[in-house]
Amino acid sequence: MDPFKICPQCAYTWNVRDDFLKDPSICLVGFQASFKETEPGHYLFNHILEGKHCGTTLAVEVEAFLSLHKGTMFTEIKFESPMCELHCTRVDDLAQCPVECKNAIAREIMQAFSQC
Ligand SMILES: [Zn+2]
Repeated sequence: MDPFKICPQCAYTWNVRDDFLKDPSICLVGFQASFKETEPGHYLFNHILEGKHCGTTLAVEVEAFLSLHKGTMFTEIKFESPMCELHCTRVDDLAQCPVECKNAIAREIMQAFSQC
């Protein structure tokens, strides 16, 4: 089985998603929203490893975390719809959003991540 994620900078390997989410050296620093249904959104995490000089930012597809979501799933992108609050224009905006949009699902999921 392929590992969940390998750090492109220091090659640290997280074999499964839980290892990654429970790793205190990982924190959420940004969210790159998807602006089309056919394009994935990405979470940006910093890898803070003291002593090993890793301070890189890793991008992981939102898709890899969607199964954490309980409840109604929205698959459409409603960016710039009348309800849209344009949080997704800023990568460092980690707020929740009330729109019935796939990016709002991603935002809800990421509230459980430790933020930088
Ligand atoms: Zn690293």
